[in-house]
Amino acid sequence: MTSALPDYDQAAALVAAYAQALRSLRPAHERVELSQASGRILAAPLSADSDQPPFARSTRDGYACRAAEASTHKTLAVTGATRAGQTPSGPLPPESVWEIMTGAPVPAGADAVIMLEHVEASGANKIRLLPPRSIKPGENIVAQGAQAHAGDELLPAGTALRSGQIALAAACGYASLDVFVRPRVAILTTGDELVPVASAPAPGQIRNSNAPMLAALVAAAGCEPWVLPTAADNAQALDAALAQAASADLLLISGGVSAGKFDLVEPALARIGARFHFTGVRIQPGKPTVFGELPRPASSPLPFFGLPGNPVSTAVTFLLFAAPVLAALSGNAESFPRFALARLAPSADRHAKAGLTRFLPANCDFATTPGQQPQVSFVPWHGSGDLVALARSNCFLVIPEDAHSLEPGSLVRILLP
Ligand code: AMP
Ligand code: MG
Repeated sequence: MTSALPDYDQAAALVAAYAQALRSLRPAHERVELSQASGRILAAPLSADSDQPPFARSTRDGYACRAAEASTHKTLAVTGATRAGQTPSGPLPPESVWEIMTGAPVPAGADAVIMLEHVEASGANKIRLLPPRSIKPGENIVAQGAQAHAGDELLPAGTALRSGQIALAAACGYASLDVFVRPRVAILTTGDELVPVASAPAPGQIRNSNAPMLAALVAAAGCEPWVLPTAADNAQALDAALAQAASADLLLISGGVSAGKFDLVEPALARIGARFHFTGVRIQPGKPTVFGELPRPASSPLPFFGLPGNPVSTAVTFLLFAAPVLAALSGNAESFPRFALARLAPSADRHAKAGLTRFLPANCDFATTPGQQPQVSFVPWHGSGDLVALARSNCFLVIPEDAHSLEPGSLVRILLP
């Protein structure tokens, strides 16, 4: 049975192709205040309203000068001063320097700025460049338009807005931005054993932790979570819940996709005409993951993922398969899933499982010293239901299907959240 399932690379390629095709359906736009734009996706290019920087700017406190003159070390008169926020009262006269502060416009005629620390006073209101230093034209000045010219496109549509992009938008005068409307993602948890977080579980019951976890993952992916009531493990409950989800942009179902007697999600999806792209992947955890789409008479098909209910499986399969589709639906041009390389710390051995790519909870220390790679270690775990291990991890260590063992100190791949 297992060999008929796609391996990780095949399933990932299928999801990537599906996500790519979705990119032709451009999401609707809306306008948001700059203060609300963090985490949103730019829907129209961001352009420079003026040259950046708008004037030749000093990057130091010191003296604007002509580099050739100053480099002779002759004494030069200080003929003016400009602070940030002022404009120079005139051009730099010959045989002189101009006192200038960081961020201030450089007077016409000056081609360099001598750092305050590199001069000596030489008589009243006179300085000279300390020998043996010399200074080159352009030093400590950013020319007008060096970063961009007025009208240049600075960021394309599809850019995820974080602090740097928001700062640039502010510098260019955008008090609000055109962003894509966030996709609405229905989250359907299934299981007779589940009770809400505020309830005390009776014997045999557990609290529903996947609904809040998936809501957090969906929100972190820049989408709007829509948590549906939990469905019981019976056909009627599932049919009703699936009908309710029909207006979503994507449907995430947790639980009920394994091979057990009460795993009724796949048959329920099949009853309403689901087209399945895969019904399992050769990975661990997360092997029973289901991906497909539901027909909708009046609109585009509804993509869905059936994620196994064990929390580590749910988290891993969301990151591997749902995240790339959500990025496409959001108009986010970044690629997902995100992998990185890290050095394996000496830690308990974790073996490969024949025929399965594994994604195990791990902790990566990114605070390395120069020249050192991030160091990753396994978090002790008790299988895919181990929420404690999940919560103590910050990534998943990838064990390739064909790896015999991973040597401490070797470079390994990690899946980032
Ligand atoms: P299932 O995928 O439905 O076979 O469930 C696999 C395991 O995950 C079982 O131990 C379930 O109790 C557990 N599980 C399923 N759904 C959830 C959920 N929403 N929150 C926490 N655990 C869950
Ligand atoms: Mg179940």
